[in-house]
Amino acid sequence: MTYDINKIREDFPILSRSVYGKPLVYLDNGATTQKPRCVVEAMVDEYYNVNANVHRGVHFLSQQATDLHEASRETVRRFINARSISEVVFTRGTTESINLLAFSFGEAFVGEGDEIVVSTMEHHSNIVPWQLLCQRKGAKLRVIPMTDEGRLCMDEYEKLLNPRTRIVCCAHVSNVMGTVNPVEDIIRIAHAHDVPVLIDGAQSTPHFSVDMQALDCDFFAFSGHKVYAPTGVGVLYGKEEWLDKLPPYQGGGDMIKTVSFERTTFNALPYKFEAGTPDYVATHALARALDYVSAIGMDNIFQHEQSLTRYARQQMSQIEGMKFFGPSDDAVISFQVGDIHHLDMGTLLDRLGIAVRTGHHCAEPLMRRLGIEGTCRASFALYNTTEEVDALVAGIKRVAMMF
Ligand code: PLP
Repeated sequence: MTYDINKIREDFPILSRSVYGKPLVYLDNGATTQKPRCVVEAMVDEYYNVNANVHRGVHFLSQQATDLHEASRETVRRFINARSISEVVFTRGTTESINLLAFSFGEAFVGEGDEIVVSTMEHHSNIVPWQLLCQRKGAKLRVIPMTDEGRLCMDEYEKLLNPRTRIVCCAHVSNVMGTVNPVEDIIRIAHAHDVPVLIDGAQSTPHFSVDMQALDCDFFAFSGHKVYAPTGVGVLYGKEEWLDKLPPYQGGGDMIKTVSFERTTFNALPYKFEAGTPDYVATHALARALDYVSAIGMDNIFQHEQSLTRYARQQMSQIEGMKFFGPSDDAVISFQVGDIHHLDMGTLLDRLGIAVRTGHHCAEPLMRRLGIEGTCRASFALYNTTEEVDALVAGIKRVAMMF
């Protein structure tokens, strides 16, 4: 298939707007992606024509909304190649998925003196929930160190694992450096020690296909809004044999089988972890977003973004004073130019219509390891073009000239 970038861009109305009188160049996709027309239309259509609460109604609309919601779960299952829909828990996003797991897993399996392994390059949402758990239980956080190039020290990783290790939690792709971590090795080594693994897939799911059965991870979290779906919906995948052993996270409607004042019994998987009214419009829209990227093809998206990232690194490397942070294996480039503060760079690029992200990117421990306060980050999506990379490069040069 030829990658028809013009046709793809037409699916995203926001891309044709301007900011400060300049055409928008949106390179903040690591934070959130723009939404294609089909996703927004699915939401509008559901609110206009279907809307009713799911699971509890005998009436037509409720059944139709429930069918859409549950069909979406099957779409997610297929997209990540989970064995069963019981393994697909809808959440509000990666952050909630990890909090859910840290709470439920922690209740069942973590005690005083136990250890949780995370990596140096985690997003705060894959550090703080585990830290809170450690504080509750008297457990200890252990950290996989990183090389100056932004890669995990795998020898050190293996040495961290011991009989007190309860779980390993690691990003698939670094949101700061674009490092694609060797998660297959991380999982294999952990399993050799009988330790389960959570993969934070927030930055991998939008860029290449992920396969739960091939990866063999025990848990996997991702956010809808980073993969062209609306905000407020995400997924926690968990192997059924693990989810079965975990207590519920929140209590409320839908997650129960029977309730009395003496005793409550819980619903089957995955509903045991889905208390309250789910954002069923968002789950439906998530399915439409996954259909959208599947129709383009995750491999085609990967190829497109890879060549864009390589082109950008190559063009940017010719700018005087350019310093990169990390290898940019995936569609993320973190940089600084000379001693220009990242905030100044971001603000001035914005005036040229170019949206990049600046700061610590919710990864303060990583910033500390790199010895910096923050970076400028350009992150690419399926709709970005080489012309936009050229605009970024020209923009950076113009800002650099001002200093
Ligand atoms: N993990 C990584 C690697 C991320 O990049 C992000 C968001 O930037 C998150 C977790 C948190 O995602 P959310 O805010 O959608 O829950």
